[in-house]
Amino acid sequence: MSLKGKTAIVTGSTSGIGLGVARALAAEGADVVLNSFTDSAEDHDLAAALADEFGVTARYVRADMSKPDDCRALVAGAGACDILVNNAGIQHVAAIEDFPPEKWDAIIAINLSSVFHCTAAALPMMRKAGWGRVINIASAHGLRASPYKVAYVAAKHGVVGMTKVAGLETAKEPITVNAICPGYVLTPLVEAQIPDTAREYGISEDAAIEQVILAKQPSKDFVRVEDLGAMAVFLCSDAAAQITAASLPADGGWTAQ
Ligand code: NAD
Repeated sequence: MSLKGKTAIVTGSTSGIGLGVARALAAEGADVVLNSFTDSAEDHDLAAALADEFGVTARYVRADMSKPDDCRALVAGAGACDILVNNAGIQHVAAIEDFPPEKWDAIIAINLSSVFHCTAAALPMMRKAGWGRVINIASAHGLRASPYKVAYVAAKHGVVGMTKVAGLETAKEPITVNAICPGYVLTPLVEAQIPDTAREYGISEDAAIEQVILAKQPSKDFVRVEDLGAMAVFLCSDAAAQITAASLPADGGWTAQ
């Protein structure tokens, strides 16, 4: 399948899942807009490397996904938005009574409200182009809860709800809106936690993965960033035209429980 001529905007895409999805879309020929809030030389280098590797146009655009105006300007300023991947997200872990209100506000803004603002800016552009794909990177925590993650679980459940509404509002158009709900993904952040967890529990790294990190993931294996990239590419294909308003787990069986 070719995504040549399509422009993909991926929020929060200078690392982890966002970068993996941007790479997968660029590999299919899509022009990509990378984003984060940092605006460092490395951010721009990442875009240049993607353009080099895949022969597409790739740009880095700074925008803070905690700010509604930045969200809308990122999308509107791109000139075209055929594929919108709402990926930016942060986490904080604490009991509700100890959860800092400013962390609640930041997680709701970045993980939930940015999806609303970017989607609102993108849909008119997709309608004008006569084709569009919105892919929200939600989480298994959009479908199930865990203690101490109140803002994250609330935000991701909100993303799943918003996916249904946006999918229904565009159901008769050549636009689909879906959420991917990953379980634990092997990103550098998670990789770095493995030796520390093993030390903390006094167990081997394999045991730390199986018993602690992947306690809820029946496959006892991580989702890979590349798998999520392939899923996003599939959702952009014609074969996925009737998949809309769906929240699709990629979680080794977690949400079947
Ligand atoms: P990551 O920390 O590697 O990447 C997050 C990206 O978001 C970075 O590029 C960062 O710069 C950007 N970002 C953070 N705050 C931002 C802001 N205010 N404005 C713009 N960009 C901002 O994280 P990841 O693990 O790749 O997670 C990406 C998404 O996938 C998140 O929504 C996360 O909730 C979701 N997710 C991750 C996992 C996992 O196991 N890693 C599992 C399920 C869902």
